[in-house]
Formats: sequence, structure tokens, C-alpha cells
Amino acid sequence: MLNEQADIVVVGAGNAALCAAISAAEHGAKVTVLEISSEEEKGGNTTYTHGSIRFAFKDGEEVRQLLPDMTDEEFAMTDFGSYPSEQFFDDVCTMSNFRTDYDLTSVMTDKSFETMQWLLNHNIKFIPIYGRQAYKIDGKFKFWGNMVIEAVGGGKGLVDALHNEANRLGITIHYNTAAVDLVTEQRKVKGIIVRHAGEERQIDCQAIVLASGGFHANVEMRTKYLGPGWDTVHTRGCKYNVGDGLRMAMQLGARTTGNWSGAHAVGGDRYLPDYKEGFQKLSYPFGILVNNEGKRFIDEGSDFRNYTYAKLGREILKQPGQCAWQIFDAKTKPFLREEYEGRHVSKVSAPTLEQLAEKMDGINKNRFMQEVHAFNAAVSSDTAFNPNILDGKATSGLDVPKSNWANPIEEGPFEAYAIGCGITFTYGGLKISKKAEVIHNDFTTIDGLYAAGEIVGGLYYDNYPGGAGLTSGAVFGRIAGEHAAKYSQQKMTV
Ligand SMILES: Cc1cc2nc3c(=O)[nH]c(=O)nc-3n(C[C@H](O)[C@H](O)[C@H](O)COP(=O)(O)OP(=O)(O)OC[C@H]3O[C@@H](n4cnc5c(N)ncnc54)[C@H](O)[C@@H]3O)c2cc1C
Repeated sequence: MLNEQADIVVVGAGNAALCAAISAAEHGAKVTVLEISSEEEKGGNTTYTHGSIRFAFKDGEEVRQLLPDMTDEEFAMTDFGSYPSEQFFDDVCTMSNFRTDYDLTSVMTDKSFETMQWLLNHNIKFIPIYGRQAYKIDGKFKFWGNMVIEAVGGGKGLVDALHNEANRLGITIHYNTAAVDLVTEQRKVKGIIVRHAGEERQIDCQAIVLASGGFHANVEMRTKYLGPGWDTVHTRGCKYNVGDGLRMAMQLGARTTGNWSGAHAVGGDRYLPDYKEGFQKLSYPFGILVNNEGKRFIDEGSDFRNYTYAKLGREILKQPGQCAWQIFDAKTKPFLREEYEGRHVSKVSAPTLEQLAEKMDGINKNRFMQEVHAFNAAVSSDTAFNPNILDGKATSGLDVPKSNWANPIEEGPFEAYAIGCGITFTYGGLKISKKAEVIHNDFTTIDGLYAAGEIVGGLYYDNYPGGAGLTSGAVFGRIAGEHAAKYSQQKMTV
């Protein structure tokens, strides 16, 4: 039976939505969450994450505050480094080519640590990402890429923990229930039309938080906004993020902002069907990438993977046949992440490079052999390889350089992974204020309407620092919930 009335309705049940719901409930509001998926599928894109979350921290001691179970021995063998909020802010600015919304990015980066503490206080547990973000050197794990902890149980663990907390706070969650339309009166939120079990009905409310994701799973919108070719890329994550929240807000005159022709898109298994886990193939900084003409086309080692992977999908899409190959040899193989293992992985292997080329369907074999030999000859042998730092082990004299971690591809057996482009989420979205209020085209607010998570535009352009999706959802979800609760209380006392 659906609630017919709530103070606040939250649309979606992923990270941003649940942070909003928890925050609104702790500020005294009666909250109803609507989720289009079934309970088994709950959690949206958030479920598909590793639960890795980026936040600013002064030093290891601050990180340890978020890890109450960490022993002294573990702490002693861990170098978390330091990631001041100024650096997090600079990362988003430089990666967006200085187009990001500075106000929103300041809020996100400055409030990232306190939001992590808030999550911890709401029973979300974290662990260091030893496996994927640190290499053990001289007995100590040294973190690189400024992303150091993940939720226990990854994305699924994060979603379960947020749902447990929502249940504890008495928040009602309706599954199999789609938000269809927003109801307003004189441009103030009054309710929401929902569809459940084939029937539409209205839930009356004072405020709504839209947290229903972007439009990455909507092929038609992808083609319209991102351009030709994006219709056929692999779709990652949640199949329900088709832009419903964007459509509903835009019908009310909500202002759109940000990089509507841009998206987070990675390189991954060329032949994996949509929505399957294990798509991404993120160890490319330790090998080389070639297209079907046999040519390298990016600097695989320009920066740590967290800072390059989200723009790589677009580069692959530009290649002939919209595909590429990742090449590794026996020396680099130990650095491959866990997603390179398994029967579903599209790869070929061979004891020699010539035999490998024979097996790489569609490749220009002669050109490929020339490319690998030219690459090997250009690698500096003076500098030591070190995966924990930007080691400067670079090529020289190549049109397409490799700036770090350049090891010759020379020791068999060799492996080639067939790679395509996979879209993760879209960057364009709604314009919001620092209080997460949705802004109208006339630059006033739409009273009672808030937004958080992927549906918000203006933060990321062209590129994105890994782990910041969960951060923006948590920071602005928490803010949206608080302000929606205050707004609804004000309305009730008027
Ligand atoms: C494979 C993968 C790995 C990732 N890894 C990371 C990572 O490690 N760290 C990180 O920070 N980010 C990661 N991301 C990005 C991250 O998932 C997102 O940025 C973040 O989880 C988005 O949260 P959200 O709450 O905005 O959206 P979502 O979690 O997608 O939630 C949106 C919800 O809205 C629901 N919904 C949609 N339309 C309606 C409707 N009309 N009515 C009701 N409900 C609706 C959807 O079903 C969904 O449950 C990853 C993404 C993918 C796909």
C-alpha cells in the first residue's frame, strides 16, 4: 500500500537518494523513497561501484578516524599520504579544464571529510583499498591516486548499509514504483505522480529530492546529446537511469547545466553484453593500447589511472571500428587487476608477439609489429619502474609518448585484450544551488525541489577523478535532505 502523504519524497534509492532520505529523517521529516526497480535490484549505479569514495584528508591520522577497527600494526604498515581539500578542488578544476561550477566543487571538496564522518556515524563501515589503490613496497602499503578507502562489501555493501540505516530511521521505501510527474501549484512542489503495479496515483508532499541518476542507459538521449556512436557503446551499471528525473524537472522549467555532450566512459571488454559486471579493464597504464591499424593513440601513462580512466572510453570510440587492444607481456601481467581473470574475458595469448598478432582479429599485423618494436626501442632504461609513483620511466622520440611506467613489451607469453567503450554515467544535468535547490531557467529556485547525485550537472566536464561520484552524491544528498526538511517544516508552520 503506497503512502498517500509524506513531508518529503525522494526519487531513487541509490547513494544520493538514501543520503538525502537519512539526512531529512534526522532533521525530523517523514520521508518516502520511490524506487523504480525491484528490491532485489535496489541501489542503482551505486550497487555496481566498488564503494571507493574520494574525500579530502590532512594525513593518515584523519583517515584512521574513519577506520575505527584499524590496528596499530596495520596503521604502521600503511602510508595514506595526504589529500588537502585544496588539492581535491584543484583536481576537479584542472580535469574539467576549469569549467566546473566552483561553488558546487568547493562545497563538495570542503565537506567531503565531514560527510565521511557523517556516513560513519550512520553505520556505514569503511576499509582501506589495499588491493587496488596501493602497492606494498619495502614492507609498507603506499597509496597512490588519492583514493584510499571503500565501503565494506563494495557498492552492494554500501547500498545494504544505507538501506539498513534508512529502515532504522523509519523511512518508507516503495520498490517497483516509478516517479512519473511532479505536481506543483504556483511553482511550489505539492506532490508527485507515481506509477505502481500499472496504476498512477498522487503522493502529496512538501518537498521532493530528485536523485534518479543521469541518462546513461537511455540510448536515444545518448545519441541526441553525446552524439553519433554513443548509441552502440556498452552500457554499464543501472538500466533504469534513463533521465526520468531530468525530464520531470525540465518540464517545470528547471535550468540545465554542465557537459551534456560528455560522459564518464571507460575501456572494457569489447564483447560483454550490457549491464554485466566486470566490464572495465583498468590496468592499461602498465601496458600499451593499440587500435586495429596497429597504432598507439594515447599516452597510457600520462597520470595515475584514477585521473585518466574516465576519458579513455571516448578515445577508444574514436578509433577505427570503435575498438582497441590492450597488450601486456609476462613482466607486466602481475600488475593486472582482478577483472582480467575469468572465462568471460575477451583475450588472446601467445608465446611470441608474431603469434599474438596472428590471433588479434582485424589488426594490421605488420603495422602492429613495427609499433611494438618502435615502442620498445624508445623506452628509457635509466629509470626504475615504480607503480606507486609517477615514476618518469618514459619513452622518447615517439609521436605518442608514454610518460610513466613504460616497460618494453618483450617477454613472452604475451596477452592482448579486446577493448571497447563503456558508458558509466552522464555529466550534464540540473543546475542546483549550494543548498541543492533546483534552479529555474529564470535563476530563482523551484520551491520545494532539490536534487543530488548524477542528476546534477556542472561538476564534471571531459574527465573525472575516480571516487568522486559517491562523494558528490553523499555531500549533496545530505545537504538536499537537510534543506528539504527545513523547507517542509517552514511550510507547515506558515
Ligand atoms: C560499474 C560502475 C562502477 C563505479 N564505481 C564507482 C566507484 O567506485 N566510486 C564512485 O564514486 N563512483 C563509481 N561509479 C559511479 C557511481 O555509481 C555514481 O556516480 C553514483 O553511484 C551515482 O549515485 P546516484 O545516487 O546519483 O545514482 P544511482 O545510484 O544510479 O541511483 C539512482 C536510482 O534512481 C532510480 N530511478 C531512476 N529513475 C527512476 C524513477 N523514474 N522513479 C524511481 N526511481 C528511479 C534508479 O533505479 C536508481 O536506483 C561507478 C559506476 C558504475 C556503473
